[in-house]
Amino acid sequence: MHVSFPMDQDIEILENGETVRDFIDCKIKELDSVENQQPFFVANLDCVLKAHLRWTKNLPRVKPFYAVKCNYTPTVISMLSALGTGFDCASKGEIQLALSLGVTPDKIIYANPTKPSYHIKYAASQGVDTMTFDNEEELLKISSFHAQANLVLRIAVDDSKSTLKLSTKFGATLSSAGKLLERAAQLGLQVIGVSFHVGCLCTDSLTFKRAIADSWHVFDMAKSLGFKMSLLDIGGGFTGTDRFVNFDEFSEVINEALDEFFPSESGVRIIAEPGRYFVESAFTLAVNVIAKRTIMNETEENCDNAESGPDRTMEYYINDGVYGSISSVLNFPEATIEPYLHRAVGSSELKYKSVIWGPTCDSIDKVLENYWIPELRVGDWLLMDNAGAYTLSICSDFNNFERPLIYSLVSADTYNRFMHGSKYLQTNKEGHSGPITTINGSDFTQDNLQVTFYTDCSLTKQ
Ligand code: PLP
Repeated sequence: MHVSFPMDQDIEILENGETVRDFIDCKIKELDSVENQQPFFVANLDCVLKAHLRWTKNLPRVKPFYAVKCNYTPTVISMLSALGTGFDCASKGEIQLALSLGVTPDKIIYANPTKPSYHIKYAASQGVDTMTFDNEEELLKISSFHAQANLVLRIAVDDSKSTLKLSTKFGATLSSAGKLLERAAQLGLQVIGVSFHVGCLCTDSLTFKRAIADSWHVFDMAKSLGFKMSLLDIGGGFTGTDRFVNFDEFSEVINEALDEFFPSESGVRIIAEPGRYFVESAFTLAVNVIAKRTIMNETEENCDNAESGPDRTMEYYINDGVYGSISSVLNFPEATIEPYLHRAVGSSELKYKSVIWGPTCDSIDKVLENYWIPELRVGDWLLMDNAGAYTLSICSDFNNFERPLIYSLVSADTYNRFMHGSKYLQTNKEGHSGPITTINGSDFTQDNLQVTFYTDCSLTKQ
């Protein structure tokens, strides 16, 4: 069943036991039948809901503000908004997107420590009042364009155990924090809290503990300077799958550190800015093999390796690549991509060492090499799971290849429980989005599934 929601948010409902894979099969058949093998994503909104359930269970004190930069898909933003989360926006455009989907300005943190002045002005005009900073120039800009803002001091933390390090670019050092706080006071600005980001794909839970301890030092410093801080933002960096690190283990360490340094009695509100966590596993990308070449290997060692197939390397060209939605192979080499054939593979099909190229004219557009896969035919489809984080949102238009289509799916079960008959994904008169007609109160329990909707992610109403 196909349901259209406002703002072009079409959603496919999986009925009668239909699975995501069934949907992909049908879609591929349909695209093949019209000779339009455009790449496409399927977004399984049930996974977003599952991530929400796990977060509320694991980190009950930490309110998530989804990092919009990670994936802009409107149905994802609307679903999270309906569940009551807040949003981390990094630019005017991201703020506009969130507001256009019914997110209220009090649920947005403008979490970019270096902002263009005219974006600050825009945030002020929309009532987006909470924003981060890490340097004096930013304080001067904010005092000119949004003097009433509630400021959050971003500090640099140890990110040595993360794949993408952010503290080289952002964050005040602990030794400069005091001066910045004094300068903010001189300018009459309000600093309400501290934020950090341990870096993307953080592999060591103790990094969070150390960063929380560092934040406590800044709170202490602020107190001695007469500031009364009330917000700790523990940023992003959470895993989106349990492939490499375990979210439960991280949660335990974070909870312990929060209880040690920011116990409930402290009255400090805790928020986070997870991106990858909510969307990585929810998306599967389907790409088409558009061309191939066979390269015969001449060295002896490559010849007739029984396990590896005959003496050749296969080169395939697919219709999405590093300039499209697979740039993660450049930015996050550890975020391994493992494409697999959509069609059934016969037991006798040999595997060949293969290179997979993206479609553009640039030779850095290489998705994978030394990849062992059965021989592909032009027209075959490859699927890639866990494709929701920093894929779509980083696409460029290089060579003008079309961006992938996006199909949002939800199971009939989730649809009936949370969306049907409700104003889910619609904007009500007051501008709030959410399951406002069917859900009474913050908890909704049915068939042993308890979903807690956040009712307290407003940054202004405490
Ligand atoms: N917050 C900020 C300020 C970021 O820069 C990022 C990512 O770059 C995020 C949150 C989201 O990080 P992740 O997707 O690793 O959770």
